[in-house]
Amino acid sequence: MTDDKFRDPAEFGFATRAIRAGQPHDPSTGAVVTPISLATTYAQTAVGEHRGFEYSRSGNPTRAALEACIASLEEADHGFAFASGLAAEDAILRTLTAGDHLILGNDAYGGTYRLISQVIAPMGIEWSAVDLTDLDALTAACRPETRMIWLETPTNPLLTVVDIEAVAKIARDHDARCVVDNTFATPALQRPLTLGADAVVHSATKYLGGHSDVVGGFVAVRDHTLAERIGYLQNAVGAVPAPFDCYLVIRGIKTLDIRIERHSANARAIVEMLTSHPAVAETLYPGLPDHPGHDAASRQMRDFGGMVSFRLAAGRDAALRVAAGTEVFTLAESLGAVESLIEHPGAMTHASAAGSPLEVPDDLVRLSVGIESTDDLVTDLRRALDEL
Ligand code: PLP
Repeated sequence: MTDDKFRDPAEFGFATRAIRAGQPHDPSTGAVVTPISLATTYAQTAVGEHRGFEYSRSGNPTRAALEACIASLEEADHGFAFASGLAAEDAILRTLTAGDHLILGNDAYGGTYRLISQVIAPMGIEWSAVDLTDLDALTAACRPETRMIWLETPTNPLLTVVDIEAVAKIARDHDARCVVDNTFATPALQRPLTLGADAVVHSATKYLGGHSDVVGGFVAVRDHTLAERIGYLQNAVGAVPAPFDCYLVIRGIKTLDIRIERHSANARAIVEMLTSHPAVAETLYPGLPDHPGHDAASRQMRDFGGMVSFRLAAGRDAALRVAAGTEVFTLAESLGAVESLIEHPGAMTHASAAGSPLEVPDDLVRLSVGIESTDDLVTDLRRALDEL
């Protein structure tokens, strides 16, 4: 038996909680790493009497450790892990019922748009896409039956910043829930529940996992009634992550704080190069003082993160050539891992939004700036731009 003295995560700082919250030393061995618990079923001492686990879809010790850890980081009271970010989004969206109205920011991940427009809307949910930086437009778009406002900030891929506190207040005033996709910022930079949001959703595939080796999703909430419903849906629909995947996310989160610092520092260096390069028409990064969301970002984020987008003065062909022309940046979808990635959203991650209000400009390139040596990244991208 071990005597693990680490009791209440709330007493500790973010980086400490990232390493310890929800992860007591294994009581039988003292192991400091949460075991990957593969059992699908658990012995009961009498009918209906068990030690908290019955069947692994309903609850699993490795998943429970992950859920407690991220809930602690998001300053939530309840956390739920899912098989992917979209599975997590689906669980939140299923809390709506036919006749409800949903407002989606007009700049969001293409898969969110696809889920809402092609899967949720046919279930009788009305939805509108609104520019959430325009609070008057948002208020005007609210209807008596509006029950949810869904926002991303910073957005994928335009890095638009939405004022979480202001949108959450408008949602409250209209008896609607405010859901924040916190995938880009992560709780290391931004904690939407502390700003009045009702639910946080993550693609854990990105920064939380951090190493491009696991697909996962997460929902964090404070409200007990909403938590009960999400927990019910998690079990009833069954889109749960495997224990090994939970382990990988737990492992990734341990270095989240230090990774995000380095992602942000490298992004700053890249942005400095981009803003002075003649081939670049516009650099989109909330850390830039002239970014329209800079003030809101400075208020609600601790730093500006590792995602950078830019537009090419010479248009689509130039964007495609830069995306295919780097050596250290890998041409690939996804984001948020240690290695730097480059992509053309219009033809790749956001192709499903073509022709919709969420269509992205075709001269846009998106970077997920990794944690490699800063000079290597700057030199690589500058060379690809110089060669245009
Ligand atoms: N939210 C954002 C902001 C994303 O970028 C993504 C995926 O790229 C998702 C949600 C969906 O997550 P997943 O791919 O894990 O299902």
